[in-house]
Amino acid sequence: MEKTFAIIKPDAVAKNQIGDILAVTEGAGFKIRAMQMTHMTRKQAEGFYAVHKERPFFGELVEFMTEGPCVLLCLEREDAVVKWRETMGATNPANAAEGTIRKRFAESVGRNCVHGSDSAENAAIELAYFFAGNTLS
Ligand code: ADP
Ligand code: MG
Repeated sequence: MEKTFAIIKPDAVAKNQIGDILAVTEGAGFKIRAMQMTHMTRKQAEGFYAVHKERPFFGELVEFMTEGPCVLLCLEREDAVVKWRETMGATNPANAAEGTIRKRFAESVGRNCVHGSDSAENAAIELAYFFAGNTLS
């Protein structure tokens, strides 16, 4: 079993899509091991996305991630990192496969409704960034 870190982003929370996205998540075989709604501070969002700080969309990304509450998730299943990336679909919903979460719920490459770690190593770093050890089973 492997864990990954996911976020239901502020666009999807504002559109009342938490339940629909969690239903797809559980339907895809993920166990929800931790879940918390939070409204990220600018500092938290900047730190979380620090790897993108030189990208032209960084300011827009931080604005978006702090515009309203989001849902932080620890998801577990076999091959969780890769399977969650598949379940989310491509970053740009225009390129996302049929049936993926981003294809179904995302508006644009920026406002793309969910986050997922891109490696097991980053999943561990991202889980530690948002969840204290004792909230993870
Ligand atoms: P992913 O979330 O699929 O791993 P990236 O790590 O490349 O994608 O980018 C992180 C986030 O930054 C994306 O999910 C999206 O919200 C935003 N983003 C990426 N590319 C763009 C872009 N070209 N314009 C605006 N926002 C973007
Ligand atoms: Mg990424």
